[in-house]
Amino acid sequence: MTAARPRPSFPARLDNSTAKGQPMPKPAVLTTSKPAVPRQSSAHGLGLDSQAVRLRMVQKLADQGVSDARVLSAMGTIERHRFVDSALVNQAYEDTSLPIGLGQTISKPGVVSRMLELLLNGQTNPIGRVLEIGTGCGYQAAVLSLLCKEVYSIERLRGLHDKARENLRPFRLPNVHLLFGDGMEGYAKGAPYAGIIAAAGGEAVPQNWLDQLAVGGRLVAPVAASGGKKQALMVIDKTDKGLHQMVLESVHFVPLKSGIA
Ligand code: SAH
Repeated sequence: MTAARPRPSFPARLDNSTAKGQPMPKPAVLTTSKPAVPRQSSAHGLGLDSQAVRLRMVQKLADQGVSDARVLSAMGTIERHRFVDSALVNQAYEDTSLPIGLGQTISKPGVVSRMLELLLNGQTNPIGRVLEIGTGCGYQAAVLSLLCKEVYSIERLRGLHDKARENLRPFRLPNVHLLFGDGMEGYAKGAPYAGIIAAAGGEAVPQNWLDQLAVGGRLVAPVAASGGKKQALMVIDKTDKGLHQMVLESVHFVPLKSGIA
């Protein structure tokens, strides 16, 4: 279904085409005057200018049909190689999921951008509060921080919650709030959310998420399909007349689990 969408004229917003040695680019939407990119931004171990590699990744995402300029700009700004182990840095800008420890993975850039585009679809710029289930290494939370006013991100594994905090520290993103807990319960204190996005797939969308979604808000999550063997991307819009659900393409996410560990 992505093939039918019109291609954006690329680059979407290239005040990004900074030569080496010049100041780093500003992200498209910044809710803070502080830099979203750590000051020392050379790509350790990449052996390449990381921004050039990142922009090639963004070009590929645009070629695949991602057309939202806000999403492309945010994906071009956040340094994905800072969220993976040093041994994997050379694969950081390939469209592949990578291990982040404790049996979990950082999602493919293609899937992250697709889900963020769906989340933003039809919303004002930037959207309000967003709840992310499954912080993992913190990469998607960082991208989200450039696209919405506040990010609440929950992780159930203490080791990854701590790792995300460490990974995100140099980015200094005051609108990202990391929470340790069971995301199946959502996070009622931050509700209602303009958007909810899950990076782990369960049998069904927990009722708590639907309750915590604002009227006018949108939820994007992988959910079990075909008798539980596969997963599909699900989009649920909450309107004043009720919930509208769309089931989209099949995806492959780690399982949504209950409890903390
Ligand atoms: N967005 C992440 C992707 C991490 S993979 C990133 O950019 O790296 C999905 C994560 O969801 C895993 O870390 C897993 O531990 C977490 N997860 C699974 N079930 C969860 C739950 N009930 N609550 C919170 N996190 C959960």
